[in-house]
Amino acid sequence: MVRPGLFTDGDPPALLGSRCTACGTFHFPRHDTCPYCAAEGPEAVELPSRGTLWAWTAVTAPPPGYEGATPYGMGVVELPHGIRVITRLTVSDPGALVFGQSMELCVVPLHTDDEGNDVITFAFAPSGAP
Ligand SMILES: [Zn+2]
Repeated sequence: MVRPGLFTDGDPPALLGSRCTACGTFHFPRHDTCPYCAAEGPEAVELPSRGTLWAWTAVTAPPPGYEGATPYGMGVVELPHGIRVITRLTVSDPGALVFGQSMELCVVPLHTDDEGNDVITFAFAPSGAP
């Protein structure tokens, strides 16, 4: 995984977030202290795997340290509870996406590391698409 603790790669996968027991807000990534009210010890939760597309773009130049293919899609998906997740998208053509369309979490291979292991990350795909 790109970074442990961000998501599970079960079937279906889930993003790992937290929920503040004091003010009730949800967070992603997981926090030790609520970023809204500073209460400590938000509870760990798995976030809903479906949301709607809120913003998106195509990344054509690889960021420093990035070893995957380009171009690739990046966007913001809004999940229930008002969580907006900055995420990779499985669709790299911005013209193929529509504001507010339904998106679903998936796990995708990013690149192969020096030991030949697949490095995986999470992404959102249009619901119903492979
Ligand atoms: Zn809070």
